[in-house]
Amino acid sequence: MNKTQYYHLPQKKNIAFILLLIICSTSSVAAQHHNAENQIKAVFNQLVTAYGNAKATPELEFMKMTPKPTTPAFYKDKSIKIDLGLYRLCQTFGKDSLNALSVVISHELAHYYYDHSFCTDFAFAIRNKSQEFANSIKLVNKNQKIIYETQADDKGMFYAAIAGFSPFEVQPKILDAIYQFYQLNDITEGYPTKAERKTIAQNALAKSQRLFQVFQEALKAKEIKQYDMALTLFEQVNRDFPSRENYNNIGVIKTLKALELKVLTKEEYDFPKRFLYPLEIDNTSRLEKSSTRGNEGNQEQMNSLLKSAQKDFEKAISLDANYTLAYINLACVFDLLDNPEAAIGKIKELPLDKQKTVDAQRIVAIAYYHLDIETKAEVIWKELKI
Ligand SMILES: [Zn+2]
Repeated sequence: MNKTQYYHLPQKKNIAFILLLIICSTSSVAAQHHNAENQIKAVFNQLVTAYGNAKATPELEFMKMTPKPTTPAFYKDKSIKIDLGLYRLCQTFGKDSLNALSVVISHELAHYYYDHSFCTDFAFAIRNKSQEFANSIKLVNKNQKIIYETQADDKGMFYAAIAGFSPFEVQPKILDAIYQFYQLNDITEGYPTKAERKTIAQNALAKSQRLFQVFQEALKAKEIKQYDMALTLFEQVNRDFPSRENYNNIGVIKTLKALELKVLTKEEYDFPKRFLYPLEIDNTSRLEKSSTRGNEGNQEQMNSLLKSAQKDFEKAISLDANYTLAYINLACVFDLLDNPEAAIGKIKELPLDKQKTVDAQRIVAIAYYHLDIETKAEVIWKELKI
């Protein structure tokens, strides 16, 4: 009896130990999956914001784990599907792991945002899984597939860079890594070959890198108030990569140019802090007391710049109806166009919490003052302590 007890006790302990091991390893695998999914989601969300597109955000789905996954990612209908194995593959890039992930996910997002009927990337690898999907892919000829891939590569990389990732250095290594990891054939009939994909990727790299540099130069020119130069550069970027940020930046520069032409009013002269428009980078130049800029003759030029800026901000909002910054900037333009009612109305279109931000309140106060409702303006200025 005792013997049996002694015999069984350690065995029970063993079983408990093994069970514990299984639970631990299962939960650690689950935790790893959870972590991978969260990191992928974070990269995905950051990229979606950078695209700032009017289309609804696509669904992000994860593929079922299989011992031998066949494709890293694809896009179909309104969803982007990612294999968790891609996360492991990207981790082999060390400090560039999230940059690598951003290149692949941004590529899929480009397919979605640019209305490609589907992503052809590695679709041949999953063609047996859905006959309907396979048939729809076959309908598109190889040339069209190459056009789609080219666009997805260059847009994808540009927006990854805009989103704050560093896609350029890691991009040339990703394709090889994917072909190796997923054991894809170099040549599959009807699809761009691996060599063609590499050429597409190289050209896209050169193009997106060049335009991202132009974008950065534009930001610099804006900072040092070289507005004409900034405008030319932003417009150059916008021809290939239109985005809400680009339109907003173009609108801001035109408004700043208009403000340089504005005749300083007595109120602005007496209370420079109160009459600072939220889009002004600083108030030391235009509203400083020694400033003598502007004369009546410039009114027409000023209005034409403001009208043009209005269109840019409206375009930015049409791309992203939740782009608060463009609403506030547009409100400034309305006030400057002597339409303070519209300025207040534009701010009222924002959700309540956004209406209460300092910048939104600043323009509302200025607009109330220009509407001769000084008491309301005073209340806001008191709250803002200006
Ligand atoms: Zn693709």
